[in-house]
Amino acid sequence: KKIAIAVDGPAGAGKSSISKVVANTLGYLYIDTGAMYRAVTWAVLDQDLNPDDQGQVESILPSLELTMEPSDASCKVFIKGRDVTGLIRQQAINDNVSKIASYKAVREYLVERQQAMAQVGGVILDGRDIGSVVLPDAELKIYLTASVEARAKRRWLEVKGTDNEQPLVEIQESVQNRDEMDKNRKESPLVCVEDAIVVDSSNLTFEETVAHILTLVQE
Ligand code: C5P
Repeated sequence: KKIAIAVDGPAGAGKSSISKVVANTLGYLYIDTGAMYRAVTWAVLDQDLNPDDQGQVESILPSLELTMEPSDASCKVFIKGRDVTGLIRQQAINDNVSKIASYKAVREYLVERQQAMAQVGGVILDGRDIGSVVLPDAELKIYLTASVEARAKRRWLEVKGTDNEQPLVEIQESVQNRDEMDKNRKESPLVCVEDAIVVDSSNLTFEETVAHILTLVQE
């Protein structure tokens, strides 16, 4: 039987890379909900709007034209037909996304779309509020976490040698800031729901984490 899997957790825990491999192994659809908040942020910055101005940010939602192309191996995101999947990983997006994700109308707008996409059987969604808000009835809920040091180090290795390269201390600070905002906001804060299984990957390799999650699916 194909189920719905919710993966939540703090920034840089490896949710998206792990969810992708799990989706691919199971033949499930992978939906990256963080990419949707990032795409809204990209549109706000691209239109030179002020991310601090909630009214201004929310006013672009009706004309946003945000579309997704989820598959089992990737999850592409488009704004007005333009593929922004690569553009939404920049530091300017990291710096503003959690603020924009705290706006109520933004969340309502995206949650509705996420729920519609998850209608098909066999999906894995990763984010912050999947088990609590988007898919409260998901058959399997995972809270994927790791120490802040482990998460920062992994992200550092990921961006090393790319256009987004950054010193480790800066990455750790950025990750910590996002965690703080995501956990303390009023609208759908990041929480570990009661029925979630906690997977701490601090001392697990990527492959071990994937294997562990696959055993949870089979149970
Ligand atoms: O998962 P990712 O790190 O790409 O998410 C970027 C940001 O989007 C998070 O730090 C969080 O502020 C927001 N987000 C959210 N709810 C989700 C997914 C992401 O608030 N379901």
